[in-house]
Amino acid sequence: MKVTDHLTNAQDTVISFEILPPQKGKGIESIYNHLDPLMEFKPAFINVTYHRSEYIFKKKRDGAFEKVEIRKRPGTVGICAAIMNHYKIDAVPHLICGGFSKEETENALIDLNFLGIDNVLVLRGDAPKNETFFAAEPDGHHYAIELLNQVVNMNHGIYIEDDLTDGLKTNFCIGVAGYPEKHFEAPNMETDLFYLKRKVEQGAEYITTQMFFDNDKFFAFEQCCRKNGITVPIIPGLKPITTKRQLTVLPHIFHIDIPTDLSKAIIASKNDDEVAKVGKEWMITQCRELKAHRVPALHFYTMGKTHIIYEIVKNII
Ligand code: FAD
Repeated sequence: MKVTDHLTNAQDTVISFEILPPQKGKGIESIYNHLDPLMEFKPAFINVTYHRSEYIFKKKRDGAFEKVEIRKRPGTVGICAAIMNHYKIDAVPHLICGGFSKEETENALIDLNFLGIDNVLVLRGDAPKNETFFAAEPDGHHYAIELLNQVVNMNHGIYIEDDLTDGLKTNFCIGVAGYPEKHFEAPNMETDLFYLKRKVEQGAEYITTQMFFDNDKFFAFEQCCRKNGITVPIIPGLKPITTKRQLTVLPHIFHIDIPTDLSKAIIASKNDDEVAKVGKEWMITQCRELKAHRVPALHFYTMGKTHIIYEIVKNII
């Protein structure tokens, strides 16, 4: 079932989770162990992130370095199929532009269709770790909107090869990313919203947001979207802070602010157990307010923290 159908059919705010594929070498049991306790909350869907290859420099015997391509977390499509089979819950694979040619994207979409997966969250992706700017593959997409157009084309039976005229029309429900605190490369919020609106006009059916810790920023973003004629559901993305280190890591990686009250409470915490308590209480308060605001879903970036996500959801449903 499509994400949008889950949102339309629900009487109340639904719960959804996002997971990362395990590090290469770990089995599917690590995913099940992570998700099993969370099944109590009957999530409407589960997203699985996509992680592109990275380049590392490996020292050879002669002392010289060689550039090696590694993928630390492969398996997005397989995990989605396993989740759907094991839990009978819809899975939403993330699909990125980075590292993919258009043909590889088409083949990935064909695989998803064969597996009965009819949801995708389309994203641009970021530059690999040791590069500064995102660069598309020679025959790849530069922006999420181009990838979105490819998926929309396939939904109309249009494939890359011109002479494939009677291609199967896929039926993907397409989600895109939104940024309550602006995407870090956008010159300003207006420009970012302009491109977000274009993604929606060209076929995105819902928006999932970057994490945020100040609900007012989400409400302001939602209001701006509505003023700009973006009418699709906007799903807040949520992640509790669990360690002191995240106070600097999260702003660095995700380009978000931590509210002063929260940062002060974290700094005052004696250890990470105390930080996790502070982070949990903050998230529970955020979720209660978002639920009262009647957001369509609360989408949790679980990032391996089953226990704390469990306690948060238990407190808000
Ligand atoms: P885009 O929509 O392409 O936007 C990127 C930037 O370009 C923005 O500044 C935008 O304003 C601008 N822009 C957009 N279109 C145009 C245009 N046509 N011309 C000029 N400028 C334009 N990354 C992963 O690698 N794997 C994941 O699984 C993953 N999951 C994510 C899930 C969510 C909910 C979110 C919010 C992010 C996720 N990311 C993931 C991170 C994401 O890939 C990065 O934030 C990336 O930098 C931008 O992706 P986007 O899809 O928003 O890009």
